[in-house]
Amino acid sequence: MYDVNSKHAEDFINHEEILETLAYADENKNNLDLIEKLIEKAALRKGLSHREASVLLACSDETMNEKIFKLAEQIKKDFYGNRIVMFAPLYLSNYCINGCTYCPYHAKNTHIARKQLSQEEIRREVIALQDMGHKRLALEAGEHPTLNTMDYYLKSIETIYSIKHKNGAIRRVNINIAATTVDNYRLLKEAGIGTYILFQETYHKEGYQQLHPTGPKSDYNYHTEAMDRAMEGGIDDVGVGVLFGLDKYRYEFAGLLMHAEHLEAAFGVGPHTISVPRLRDADDIDSSSFKNGIDDDTFAKIVACIRIAVPYTGMIISTRESQKVRERVLHLGISQISGGSRTSVGGYCKPEPEDEKSEQFDVIDNRTLDEVVQWLMRMDYIPSFCTACYREGRTGDRFMSLCKSGQIQNCCHPNALMTLQEYLMDYASPETKALGDKLIDKEIQNVPNAKARSIVTENLRLIRENNRRDFRF
Ligand code: SF4
Repeated sequence: MYDVNSKHAEDFINHEEILETLAYADENKNNLDLIEKLIEKAALRKGLSHREASVLLACSDETMNEKIFKLAEQIKKDFYGNRIVMFAPLYLSNYCINGCTYCPYHAKNTHIARKQLSQEEIRREVIALQDMGHKRLALEAGEHPTLNTMDYYLKSIETIYSIKHKNGAIRRVNINIAATTVDNYRLLKEAGIGTYILFQETYHKEGYQQLHPTGPKSDYNYHTEAMDRAMEGGIDDVGVGVLFGLDKYRYEFAGLLMHAEHLEAAFGVGPHTISVPRLRDADDIDSSSFKNGIDDDTFAKIVACIRIAVPYTGMIISTRESQKVRERVLHLGISQISGGSRTSVGGYCKPEPEDEKSEQFDVIDNRTLDEVVQWLMRMDYIPSFCTACYREGRTGDRFMSLCKSGQIQNCCHPNALMTLQEYLMDYASPETKALGDKLIDKEIQNVPNAKARSIVTENLRLIRENNRRDFRF
């Protein structure tokens, strides 16, 4: 039975409710009066329910779709301005005992090179990432109870935060590891993680069981209820996502929004971020053997509909997508992107020889971080290296209430400018720096009030003189 408040996966991601939602969306996908009303409702920027958003996703009327895209773009601007937060993944280990059929780290893959970074190797990787300019990482690892232990993660997080190389520092460590216990989530929180990320992969239980035939991850309920345990353990910023291509996208879309509704109902705060990865080729994985792949237009529509259904939730896109696709969806709702990513274990320090490949998926956007930063600025976006909210205690419902009231802009915009200036001084190519300095001079006028503007101006001057402090609002 569908119950948004229930702590049981099968209640809050209820299969019958999703089927009814899809049937309702089919019945109404040409109901232009209803669609118009839903667009008007979405324009109030308070979001839409999974049923309402599913109607918009199903709609194929061109005029209405144009309105949907336009609204998504406007909501994106209203809540996120022209800032795009930058991050990089850091693969710690690809040892894994699960049998996920879409991931090359699955236990039966005997020819992929298996690696786990030592603390010294992590140090080298982090220095390489700091030298690129990164301040925010997402740690990635397979599930392995004796190798990838909680002690290993905690030690790794401590190592990462401790490394101060030149002007570099990793200021926010997010972590994407297997579902675990409330006690372990508490330990991660105490270790100072930012967001706990766990992709559902698919919300379709039957499909899930086929895609996860073996290993602890095959327990659908345990996996689906992970965010509840994370929140019980005190982690109030959680990141959800599905792997588009595994099951039918409209089912996944409804499930994703139901998950967000459940977290909001049960804990007073929805997900901090939603990721939208699409299935990719990798080592022994041939993505064309999966029958539910989605084209770029459908992908863009999904991003736009998520944006208007959950306006306050950050949206993430990785280097699984091409420059062209990333550019299209940035306008429609994406607020965080990775740059200069390596999806192999130890890939930032040195390229892997052909016979030692350990990548999780093929990176499509292979540009350097400098190239990505420059590209964003040429489109008038401000690449932001800000990590202030988490360090100022603006997490969970505190962050969300600032976001909903629009006040978060008062912090985000100045912080984006100051962290971009740091990046330009320390890591940018001359061309990127010249472009960035000009952009900052223009954008300083958009800092919301005169007092903040004068503080930011002074801080920017200090950064330009290399007189550093940990500037943040
Ligand atoms: S998706 Fe995660 S759990 Fe599954 S095989 Fe890959 S690394 Fe292991």
